[in-house]
Amino acid sequence: MVQAIDVHKFFDELHVLKGINLTIERGEVAVLLGPSGSGKSTLIRCINELEQISAGRMYVDGDLMGLREENGRLYRLSDKAIAKQRSRIGMVFQRFNLFPHMTALENVMEAPRQVLGMTKAEAEADAREQLERVGLSDRADHYPSQLSGGQQQRVAIARALAMKPELMLFDEPTSALDPELVGEVLQVMKDLAASGMTMIVVTHEVGFAREVADKVVFMDDGVIVEAGVPADVIGNPQEDRTREFFAKVL
Ligand code: ADP
Ligand code: MG
Repeated sequence: MVQAIDVHKFFDELHVLKGINLTIERGEVAVLLGPSGSGKSTLIRCINELEQISAGRMYVDGDLMGLREENGRLYRLSDKAIAKQRSRIGMVFQRFNLFPHMTALENVMEAPRQVLGMTKAEAEADAREQLERVGLSDRADHYPSQLSGGQQQRVAIARALAMKPELMLFDEPTSALDPELVGEVLQVMKDLAASGMTMIVVTHEVGFAREVADKVVFMDDGVIVEAGVPADVIGNPQEDRTREFFAKVL
C-alpha cells in the first residue's frame, strides 16, 4: 500500500529525511516511534503530499505520488491530480480542527458533499454510519464546543473515514488529550485496525504499538534505525539508539 524508496526531504539546508526505505502492506498497521524532531511528521506528510519530497520515490497503492514519469523524466502533477491522490488517504492530526459552527454530523458530511459530490441524503446516511463506528451516534447534533477532546478526535476520525480512504495516517492523535480521554480514541483506532484498515500511526503510546502494530518503525535523526514486529523492536532492540529511546519512555 505504501512504498518509500530512498526518500529525502530538505527544508532549505536542513536535511530532515535521509534516505527512507519503507514498505507497508495492505491491511498492515505500522507505528512510527522516535524522538521529537526525528522526522516522523515529515515522513507521513510526505506520504500524502502535504510535503513534497526532495528526492526518491513515494508510491501509494502503486501510484507515484505527486509526480508523473514520462520518457525517463519526472514532471510535477497538477494540483488537481495531487488532490485526487490525496483524497484516498485519511489524515488525523493532534489538533482535530473541526469546523466550530457545524455539528458533528455536519462536520462528517462536509467533504463527501463537497469533494465526492454525494447528495445530502447519501452523505447524511453515511455520516451517521461513520459516527456509529466511532461510538458517537448520540452526539450527532452536538457542536464541537459541546464535546470533550476525545469525542472531538473521534469525530475527526469519522470525518476522515467518510472519504472512504484506503490508508489512514495518524500524527500523534492522542497527544493533545487529557490522559483520561486517551483510551477511547485508542480503542476506536484498535477497532479500525481490526476492520482491516491500513494505518500508519505516529504515537508515543508504546502500549498501543505493542498491542496493535504489525510493524514498529523506530526513527532517529531522519533515518529508520530499526523496523520489525513489536516483540523485536520494542522487546529486543538491536541498536543502541533504539535501546536508549525505549529505556527512557518505558
Ligand atoms: P517529529 O515529528 O519526529 O517530531 P518533524 O518531522 O516534525 O519531527 O521535524 C523534523 C525536523 O524538520 C525538525 O528539525 C523540524 O524542526 C524540521 N521541520 C519540520 N517541518 C519544517 C518546516 N515546514 N520548515 C522547516 N523545518 C521543518
Ligand atoms: Mg511530529
